[in-house]
Amino acid sequence: MKDVLIIGSGPAGYVAAIRCAQNGLDTAIIESKAEFGGTCLNVGCIPSKALLDSSNKYYQAKEHFSEHGISFTEQSFDLGTMMTRKDDVIKKLTGGISGLLKGNKIETINGTGKIISKHQVEVTQSEDTIILDAKNIILATGSKPIELPFARWSKNIVSSTGALNFIEVPKKLGIIGAGIIGLELGSVWSRLGSEVVILEALDEFLPSADHQIAKEVQKEFTKQGLNINLGCKVQDTIDSKDSVLVKFVRDGEDHELDFDKLIVAVGRTPNSQNIFDSSVEISIDSKGFVDVDQYCRTNIDNIWAIGDLVRGPMLAHKGSEEGVMVADRIIGKKTEMSYEHVPSVIYTHPEVAWVGKNEQEVKTENISYKTGVFPFAASGRALAASDSKGFVKMIANESDDTIIGIHAFGPSAAEIVQQGLIAMEFSSSAEDLALTIFSHPTVSEALHEAALSVNDQAIHIGNKKR
Ligand code: NAD
Repeated sequence: MKDVLIIGSGPAGYVAAIRCAQNGLDTAIIESKAEFGGTCLNVGCIPSKALLDSSNKYYQAKEHFSEHGISFTEQSFDLGTMMTRKDDVIKKLTGGISGLLKGNKIETINGTGKIISKHQVEVTQSEDTIILDAKNIILATGSKPIELPFARWSKNIVSSTGALNFIEVPKKLGIIGAGIIGLELGSVWSRLGSEVVILEALDEFLPSADHQIAKEVQKEFTKQGLNINLGCKVQDTIDSKDSVLVKFVRDGEDHELDFDKLIVAVGRTPNSQNIFDSSVEISIDSKGFVDVDQYCRTNIDNIWAIGDLVRGPMLAHKGSEEGVMVADRIIGKKTEMSYEHVPSVIYTHPEVAWVGKNEQEVKTENISYKTGVFPFAASGRALAASDSKGFVKMIANESDDTIIGIHAFGPSAAEIVQQGLIAMEFSSSAEDLALTIFSHPTVSEALHEAALSVNDQAIHIGNKKR
C-alpha cells in the first residue's frame, strides 16, 4: 500500500508528489498523457509564454527598434521555427519534471486513474487495468477549456490549445472572451499580423482588475491593434470549410462577422468527470468543482483535491501551493495557504499584474484606505528602455498603513507585484516599503515610489495637496 497516490501530474500534482516524497512518504503519481506537467507545461502557461516572447521580439523589432536607431531593410519571421522553439521549451521542461520525479524516487504510472473505494484507485492502461491501494489519495486532474454548444471544436474553431498550434497566421482571427487567454493569445497573433477581433459578453473590460488599471490596459491594447468589443454576446456560429461566421447580439441588435479562425476563450471547467466511482461519495458542486475545506480535504478524510479541480482561481501557482499544503498536512504539519495573496498576471506587453484587493473592492467592503500611484513615465529605467507605459498603484489601510493591494501595468509588472506580495506576506506597511532601499535605476523603483506616494512622500512625482 502506497502512502500517497496522486492522480494528475500538472503543477498541482507533481509539486504535491515531490513534497510528499520530501516528507518521507512512499508516493506514486498517475498520468494519462504521455508527458508530465499537465496543461501548464504542455498546452498552457509555458507554450503561450514561449509564443508571447517570440512574437514580442518580432513586434518590437518591427515597431520600436527604430526609436533606438536600429533599422532593418526587411523584417520577417518563420512560424515553423517559432513553433519548434516553443515545442523544445516544452520538451525540456516536461523532461525536467520526469527527472525530478525520478530523483525523488516517486513511482510514475501511465494510465487513467479512477478512485473506486476510499483506499483504492483503478488505473486503466492501454492493455491492462490495475488496482492500487493507498492510505491517502490526492486528486489533481485539472481543467479543460469550456466548449460552447454553438461553437464546437473543429479545424477553424479552436480552444487555447489549438491556438498555440496554428500552422499559418490567420488573416482574420475572432476571439470569444476578453479574459486572460483571449488577451494573451490575441496579442500573440495580432503581433504576427492577424487582424484580431475580440467579442466579450460583459460590458466591463477586465472586471477583476483594478478599474484604473483596466481602463489604461484597454486603451493600450486597442492602440496595439486588438479590436476589443464589449457587450457582445455570441449566440451562434456557422463553421464552413475555410471560415467561421460568428453571430452575436450587441445593444439588442444582431450582428455577424466572418473569420478565418475562431478562438473560444470563455473559461475552463474542472476535470471532475469519471475520476471516482459513484459508490465513492465525494461531494461536487453544481459547476463540477470538487468540494474541499480550506486545507483541500474532501468530505472523505483521506482524499484530497487541489488545483483547478477545486474552488479559487485556476492558476498554476495556486495549485502548486495547495499541493505543498496537502503533502504537509498528510504528515500532520499545520501548513496553510494565504488565499488572499494569490497573484494574477496577464503576460501581455506591457504585463498586467495584481495581488490583494483593488480599489472597487475596498470601497464595497467599506475599508478606509489610501492609495499611491507612480507612473513608469517618471521612471528613469523605464524611459531608458523605451518601455514607460502604465503605472504601479498601491492600496493601504488608512488606519494602520498595512498594504492591502498592489496593481501594476507596465514593464516587469509581474516581478514588481511579486516584490510587493512578499512585503504583504510579512504584513508590511507602505512606510516599511518606503523605507526599503531599491537599486537605482530599476523599474522596481516604481513600487518604492508608489509606497512613498501612499503617504504623500513620493520623490520623483508631485504628491496630493492636503
Ligand atoms: P476567463 O474566465 O478569464 O475569461 C472568459 C471571458 O469570456 C469572460 O470575460 C466572459 O465574460 C467571456 N464570455 C463567456 N461567454 C461568452 C460569450 N458567449 N460571448 C462573449 N464572451 C463570453 O477565461 P479564460 O481567459 O478562458 O481563462 C481560463 C482560465 O485560465 C482562467 O481561470 C485564467 O485565470 C486561467 N489562465 C491564466 C493565465 C495566466 O495566469 N496568465 C493564462 C491563461 C489562462
